[in-house]
Amino acid sequence: MSLINKDFRLNQHKNQQRGYLRIRWALLAITFAGITAVIASTNSGHNKAEEITTNTLPTFETAKLTLDKLSEDLKESRARNSFALSLPQLQAQQKLLDDANNRITNQSPRQWREFQVKSGDSLAHLFKRAKIKPQQLDELMKSGKAVKTLRRIFPKDIIRVLSGTNGILQALRYDIDHKSYLMVERTSGVLVAKTYNHQIETRQAHASGVINSSLFLAAQEAGISQNIIMELANIFGWDIDFALDIRKGDNFTVLYEELFRNGEKISDGNILAAEFTNNRKIYRAVRYTNPQTNRSEYFTPDGKSMRKAFLRTPVNFTRISSRFTTSRYHPVLHKFRSHKGVDYAAKRGTPIHSAGDGKIIFKGRKGGYGRVMIVQHGTKYTTLYAHLKTYNRKLRIGSKVKQGQTIAYVGSSGLATGPHLHYEFRVNGVHRNPLTVKLPISSPVPKRYMTDFELTTSPVFAQLDLVTRAQQIALVDTTTTQ
Ligand SMILES: [Zn+2]
Repeated sequence: MSLINKDFRLNQHKNQQRGYLRIRWALLAITFAGITAVIASTNSGHNKAEEITTNTLPTFETAKLTLDKLSEDLKESRARNSFALSLPQLQAQQKLLDDANNRITNQSPRQWREFQVKSGDSLAHLFKRAKIKPQQLDELMKSGKAVKTLRRIFPKDIIRVLSGTNGILQALRYDIDHKSYLMVERTSGVLVAKTYNHQIETRQAHASGVINSSLFLAAQEAGISQNIIMELANIFGWDIDFALDIRKGDNFTVLYEELFRNGEKISDGNILAAEFTNNRKIYRAVRYTNPQTNRSEYFTPDGKSMRKAFLRTPVNFTRISSRFTTSRYHPVLHKFRSHKGVDYAAKRGTPIHSAGDGKIIFKGRKGGYGRVMIVQHGTKYTTLYAHLKTYNRKLRIGSKVKQGQTIAYVGSSGLATGPHLHYEFRVNGVHRNPLTVKLPISSPVPKRYMTDFELTTSPVFAQLDLVTRAQQIALVDTTTTQ
């Protein structure tokens, strides 16, 4: 009921606007007809009159320009004393022109103004800059659920406002993201907030590249955006180390989405499928959305997850002796400091398992941490193991480790009151609580969806094959002609 009401009010509002427009254009038409008669009598004005009549209905701004031009012409012909009309007639025309002008200026507060959010800015500041009454902010925030998005605005965001000289907000527009925007409009005196979706068209694109030095350079040459490159590295990052494993001649093909709004590309979408040949070994991945959970993930052609999971705890511990906190009393340093990991008390010499598949990126002493090992998993995650007694002697920096593989043994090296494992978990370099962090899931496609998986992904793989083959043929062509 309320929705119908709102639509009705909106329509009413639009009709009202249309009404104003009609009046405005009728007035202009009358003015033009009169003025054209004046101008037609001078040669220079003749062309201008033609220009006007051949133009289709212009926008408000161009109409205003035309009007200005007309008054110029009027002044000019008056100066030249070359008008065909009598003085009273001319005065009448002038009055008509003035009236039209007034009407336009009086009805033109519908001019949007654009404000960019500065750092440390608030809506209140912005309203002040826009000379909108502060009380209007309360009214705005009560204009509906959709307006909540304004509670979190960021520097460089653009907020457009429409307000009269009286400081009353008539409308406000804010782009939430590529896909949607917030529109608050005063309809029948009340501010109403609503979220609208842009029409987004998804097109498919593909790109291929051969690596000479780095994936990033090759991808750049292939015209792939930074985001797609990062996503590509994230998908294959569990299997391939893009810093060390890359060989000259490695190549890739990627099928991805491009998003268009009004025929204009606004951004890249998701990677649909990709293939990466590393040191002659081929890795393939496809995006598949679980019909039940609606979660999209990347899988191998046989339905295994591209991500590798983590063990929640890397050691068989007797108790958790210290938890993740941002401030605690350090028993050895006798100071308050944050504890950015979990301490698992365990017997000296208890094996420590790598939390996930990965690669050793650090092995050695680190101040109060004593003997430390750091493992990198995929591109986003690292795990740190400290106070070690000894390391697995077979492992060195760069060694690959499997999930659950013993990498070291519990000790009390560095600043430790007793044998325990100090364990840290970082996501994109930021410490997270290992006990509560949301770990990536690596379940394969559920059995009951395997048929659906094969049906939906086989055409995508077929296309990936086509693009890859085309690229290989092109490659042979260039090498033979060179
Ligand atoms: Zn600790």
